[in-house]
Amino acid sequence: MNDSPDFESVSEAVPQPMPELLLINGQRILGDGDPEAVINPRTGESLAHIPQASIEQVDAAVAAAQTSAKAWKQTSVAHRAACLLAIADGIEQAADELVVLEALNCGKPRYQVAEDDVPSSADVFRFFAAVVRNQQAPAAAEYIAGQTSMIRRDPVGVVAAIAPWNYPLMMAAWKIAPVIAAGNTMVFKPSEQTPLTALRLADILADVLPAGVINVVLGRGESVGSQLINHPGVRMVSLTGDVSTGQKVLQAARRSVKRTHLELGGKAPVLVLNDANIDAMAEHVTRYGFYNAGQDCTAACHLYVENEVYDPTVERLSACIGALRFNQADDNHNDLGPLISQRQRNSVASFVERALELPHIELAVGGRIPAGEGFYYQPTLLVGARPEDEIVRREVFGPVVSVTRCDSAEQAIQWANQSDYALASSVWSGNIGRAMQTASELEYGTTWINNHFALPSEMPHGGLKSSGYGKDLSRYALEDFSVVRHIMLSHQ
Ligand code: NAD
Repeated sequence: MNDSPDFESVSEAVPQPMPELLLINGQRILGDGDPEAVINPRTGESLAHIPQASIEQVDAAVAAAQTSAKAWKQTSVAHRAACLLAIADGIEQAADELVVLEALNCGKPRYQVAEDDVPSSADVFRFFAAVVRNQQAPAAAEYIAGQTSMIRRDPVGVVAAIAPWNYPLMMAAWKIAPVIAAGNTMVFKPSEQTPLTALRLADILADVLPAGVINVVLGRGESVGSQLINHPGVRMVSLTGDVSTGQKVLQAARRSVKRTHLELGGKAPVLVLNDANIDAMAEHVTRYGFYNAGQDCTAACHLYVENEVYDPTVERLSACIGALRFNQADDNHNDLGPLISQRQRNSVASFVERALELPHIELAVGGRIPAGEGFYYQPTLLVGARPEDEIVRREVFGPVVSVTRCDSAEQAIQWANQSDYALASSVWSGNIGRAMQTASELEYGTTWINNHFALPSEMPHGGLKSSGYGKDLSRYALEDFSVVRHIMLSHQ
């Protein structure tokens, strides 16, 4: 799938020592809690043992965010935008290091991190630097005679932002940029499994931002994460993670009526209509069903295919998926890496095993744990799945694509809309009117037409139903992380 990009410009040297310091009130300090092992998923070996934050350190991080809130809120938007631009520059200057750390910690092919994760993270900071200077509201006017009304957009206060392990640097950028652009202060917690790029990013943040505006703490969900979401000093919680973790955030939020911003799981349907370009669709699904080893909430992981094109779809997809490369010594030749952990790999393997126990599901490609070290799983295609099957309904979060035959576009829409998840979807058709009609009937946060996966900084990313309701990227994220206030001035 990849065309062996020139990768010579990215250093392969592993930074030593590994980033391990938290950022609390402008100070880079070691955690006082138990050490957490950070694993290389390509080998299963430990990369580092990084101490987590203690209860007292989490309290200190929230207190620092509270103390710095007033001064940061009163900075001009031009100043905040300049800080965001400086952070973007810092990311670019540290790009080589960030690429190596992210690839090591997640097992992703380095060229993909260099081409996608790092530049798009810098772009997110640049986008929010621009958009915060150009916010929109109704005109100030006399809606009651003798009184001028105007709208203010103000920060929410202290935000706790909690990220998952699948795109650690990008998720940090998606959370941090709109939160601080909107004038909030924050405590950011990366996933305990993938802290390396967030801790390296903390160097850049500490250089640019006043003490306390952003604090980075490390730790497990059930300890540090739970303390943050229940903390009385936190006004809003933003989580990207599992639906069950989102439910815990909501339970914690109801006690003190905290605001919440939830980006939860996904199970993206791909609707292939009978006039679709099958070659283009198969190439795209192969790329974006298996990108990041399928550990992506928008991954093109389940196809509803109209009868007339079912056989050519299975044939073409089998050929493309069978050609995917992984675990090659030269990383430029890898299309995908391993899964993040043995636990995740075992979870994916058991989804496939249970699917294959059903008499109507056939294995077209893959379906096994390959020999050798690391948490790899073969790129897998399962055909003949029915809409009620577990493999169709649940998020596998691995390199597994399944296919369901359907009689019509209407049936595909109905089945796709039965999902508990509603984050992303795509429609493939050569008839633009049909494609638009189908897109209009789908109940998903994003629907791509003859495409799947692209997420520009300018457009919102977020779900409906169990996929949550927070928007990342776009001006809508800035709105999510700010409050609208009415100021009325009497002319008397
Ligand atoms: P997870 O919910 O287990 O963990 C996410 C984060 O929440 C981690 O930092 C974790 O430490 C923390 N956490 C866990 N339990 C917690 C608790 N009780 N209190 C507070 N924090 C807690 O999810 P994951 O396994 O890291 O990530 C995979 C999930 O994330 C998938 O379901 C995937 O679909 C979802 N995801 C969604 C999006 C999106 O944009 N909608 C993007 C990426 C990943």
